[in-house]
Amino acid sequence: MSEVKNVLVLDKVSKSYGENLLAVDNVSLSIRENEFFALLGPSGCGKTTLLRMLAGFETPSGGCIYLDGTDISPLPANKRPLNLMFQSYALFPNMTVRKNIAYGLEMEKLPAAEIRQRVDEVLATAQLGELAERKPDQLSGGQRQRVALARALVKRPRVLLLDEPLGALDKKLREKMQLELKRLQHESGITFIIVTHDQEEALVMSDRMAVLDGGKVCQCGSPAELYENPNSRFVANFIGVSNILEGVRESDNSVMVRNRALTVESAVGEIRGQAVALVIRPERLQVLSSATPLAEEQACANRVDGQIVEVAYHGLDTNLHVQTALSDKPLIVRVPSSQFEYAQFEQGASIRLGWQARHARVLTR
Ligand code: ATP
Repeated sequence: MSEVKNVLVLDKVSKSYGENLLAVDNVSLSIRENEFFALLGPSGCGKTTLLRMLAGFETPSGGCIYLDGTDISPLPANKRPLNLMFQSYALFPNMTVRKNIAYGLEMEKLPAAEIRQRVDEVLATAQLGELAERKPDQLSGGQRQRVALARALVKRPRVLLLDEPLGALDKKLREKMQLELKRLQHESGITFIIVTHDQEEALVMSDRMAVLDGGKVCQCGSPAELYENPNSRFVANFIGVSNILEGVRESDNSVMVRNRALTVESAVGEIRGQAVALVIRPERLQVLSSATPLAEEQACANRVDGQIVEVAYHGLDTNLHVQTALSDKPLIVRVPSSQFEYAQFEQGASIRLGWQARHARVLTR
């Protein structure tokens, strides 16, 4: 494996506003070279404040920020090799796309030939070549967004900071631009840090992400790590859909949920009698029927009977909401829609569900 190089290191960074509001609380994170990193969390969790401190628009109340090993806290925003792309794009309306992109380099007084070459390169990468002579009001929302990105990339910042960059776009364009952004990041080799409150966006785009709540980092890791192994109810709920069962640990491999002993895989350091939550993802629950192969049924250490209370069709998949005795809230089971050809999943029908011990994650927080 190649050596991991950290570009940005945040060491116990805090920001307070007044006496009582700690917007960012003791955040330590390392962001790697050539990484697409997402800061994710609900409104007010401190994402933007953190980004603004990296950009130099806010001063931390405590802690240090290192870029390539150097403490950049004393540097003003315009002296940092970081570029913040605003949600509003802030393009100059009276300038062509080419002029908009060249502007930052002209301010740096670079030679004209170098400006032209760098602008041409970025126009090609952002697929804007044919639009170079247009003005911003002659562009679509997605194209404007690409110009704003091109303008940031042409400066070749060490790190590009993006605050909800796709916030102004409609859903379809957003999805297209998510892949586009990822491609641009990959091709430019620049580290991207993106702020978003949209978990799906973070899952699709990022190499790693940090989930924040109340100014603190709850968990940091790859999308798959956070989805498969959330460390708390908060992260389990915030990322993807979760079935959460509240119970009490009985032994190393059993948790009591409403008088039913459920089998789990043993986890170190957990105590008998401790209140815990079991998290089971909808795609890990299996519908058991007389047609289920015996080996599959036997692999499910846990089984529960229930009744379908809702059938929600999502195209490729259908979510069955199944009321069981294990929780007040129905369990959500994701079934490939193609299975509907073979089975009757109707509201009111009785159904048996099963899951393997290893697919229930035990949480203590
Ligand atoms: P959103 O997704 O809604 O933009 P966010 O996670 O980016 O939220 P921040 O904008 O970082 O959240 O705000 C974090 C907290 O700090 C909030 O409680 C906010 O009200 C507060 N805050 C932000 N800026 C200031 C300021 N200049 N003065 C006082 N309080 C502030």
